[in-house]
Amino acid sequence: MKYYDKLIFELSESGRCAFSLREAKVEVELPDNLKRQSPLPLPEVSEVDVVRHYTNLSQMNFGVDTGFYPLGSCTMKYNPKIDEEISQLPEFRDAHPLMHSEGLEEIYSQLDKALAAITGMSHFTFQPCAGAHGELTGLMLMRAYHESRGDFGRKRIIVPDSAHGTNPASAAICGLDVVVVKSKENGLVDIESLKPLLGEDLAGIMLTNPNTLGLFEKDIKQIASLVHGCGGLLYYDGANMNPLLGVVRPGDMGFDIMHLNLHKTFSTPHGGGGPGSGPVGVCEKLVPLLGIIRTSAFHGNTGVIIKALAYILSLGKQHIALAGKYASLNANYIKESLRDSYKLPIDSVCKHEFVFDGLLEPNGVSTLDVAKRLLDYGYHAPTIYFPMLFHQSIMIEPTETESKQTLDEFIAVMKKIAQEAVEDPELLHSAPHNTPVGRPDETAAARQPILRWRPE
Ligand SMILES: *Cc1c(COP(=O)(O)O)cnc(C)c1O
Repeated sequence: MKYYDKLIFELSESGRCAFSLREAKVEVELPDNLKRQSPLPLPEVSEVDVVRHYTNLSQMNFGVDTGFYPLGSCTMKYNPKIDEEISQLPEFRDAHPLMHSEGLEEIYSQLDKALAAITGMSHFTFQPCAGAHGELTGLMLMRAYHESRGDFGRKRIIVPDSAHGTNPASAAICGLDVVVVKSKENGLVDIESLKPLLGEDLAGIMLTNPNTLGLFEKDIKQIASLVHGCGGLLYYDGANMNPLLGVVRPGDMGFDIMHLNLHKTFSTPHGGGGPGSGPVGVCEKLVPLLGIIRTSAFHGNTGVIIKALAYILSLGKQHIALAGKYASLNANYIKESLRDSYKLPIDSVCKHEFVFDGLLEPNGVSTLDVAKRLLDYGYHAPTIYFPMLFHQSIMIEPTETESKQTLDEFIAVMKKIAQEAVEDPELLHSAPHNTPVGRPDETAAARQPILRWRPE
C-alpha cells in the first residue's frame, strides 16, 4: 500500500485506538432531540497510524523549504526563519485585534517609514490583506482623489496587455472601464498606441515596471508626463518589488499610488491562500485621503507586518540593495544558459524574471509537458501559459536566495528535458512519472470536481 492511497477514514480498523481516557461520568442529561442517534463514524486508528499518515501527507507538499520553486511573477524566495520566530513572540501573537498597543503602533509606523524610503511614496495604509485587495484600495484612492477635486467624469483606466490578471479585474470591481494598451514587439508599452487613449475621462494607468516579462519600461518618465498631462494618475503594481529593492523607486519614476505584496518580497511565505498583506502607498498629495478609505476591519495582518519589518531591519539598507541585483543576475544567468534549448521571444537583458516561448525544437512537446516533467526531477514548475503574449510561455523567476549550484542543477535538468523532447517525446507527454498524482484530466477536474469523500 502506498501511504497516499488512503484517507485516515479508510485506515480505520474497528477497536484500534490512539489514546486512553478514564471513563467519563455523564453529569448532564441531554434532551432526546439533541442526542446522536448513531455513533459518530470517527476513524479508529492506532497512534503509529496517525503519525505515519500525517507525516507522509506533510511530505507530499512542495514548498520553498523543500526545493527550488522558480514560479515567475510570484517571487517564491526563501524567507528567513528568524522573522517567523519574531512574529510569533507571545506579546505579538496574543495581542487582541482591538487592543490598543503603543508597541504595535510603533511597528506599523517604522514599517511605514521603511517602505516609504524603499518606494519613494509618502505614506502607506496597511489595511489590504492581499495584492489584489491593495489594487482595489489603491484604485478607490485614485477615484477619491479625482472626486475630491470635483472631477467626476474620469471613468477609464489604461492597463497594458501584459498586465497581471488582477489589474483589470480590480479596476472593473472598482467601477472603472478598462482600456488595454498594446505592447510593442520588444514587450514594452507602445507610446504611440498610448497617446490616443489619453483624455479628460482618464482616471489613470496601471503599470508594473519591470513588467511581467521582466523588462524595464525605459520610457516611464514620458509615460508619466503624458498621463499626468491629461490629469490622470499612475498606479504602480508593486507585487514584485524584489528586483527594484535599493535600485530604483516607483515614486521617482512618477507613480502616485502603489501596492506591495509583503507576502512576496518581504519575508512572508505564500501560496495556499494567506495570510498576506498588500499595503498601499501614496504620494504626498494623496496622503489626506488615506484616512477616508476603509477596506478592512482592522489595521492589517499584523504577523505579516512584523515579519516585513524584521526582514528589512535585519538586512539593512546596504544588504537589501543586493537582493534585486542578485535576483536579476540569477534570472539572466538561467536565460543565457538555456537559450540554445528554449525559444527566447524577447532577447534583452531581463530583470528578476524572463519568459521563454516553449522549446526551440518542440517535436510536439508542449510547455505543459516540460512543466510536468520538471516535477519528476524534484522541481516546482515555472509559471506557464502566462503572460498570454506568447502561446507557450514559460516564466522563470529564480530569486536572489538561490545559489549558483542550485541554478546549475536546474539548468542541467532543463537541458536534459529538451534532449528528451528530441529523443523520446512520449516520455514527456505522459509525465510526471514519479509523483503521487500523475497527470489529472484537467477538464474533468474543472467540470466535475470531487472535493469530498463519503463513506460507502
Ligand atoms: C501576485 C501578483 C498580484 C496579486 O497579488 P495577490 O496577493 O495574489 O492578490 C498582483 N500583481 C502582480 C504583478 C502579482 O505578481
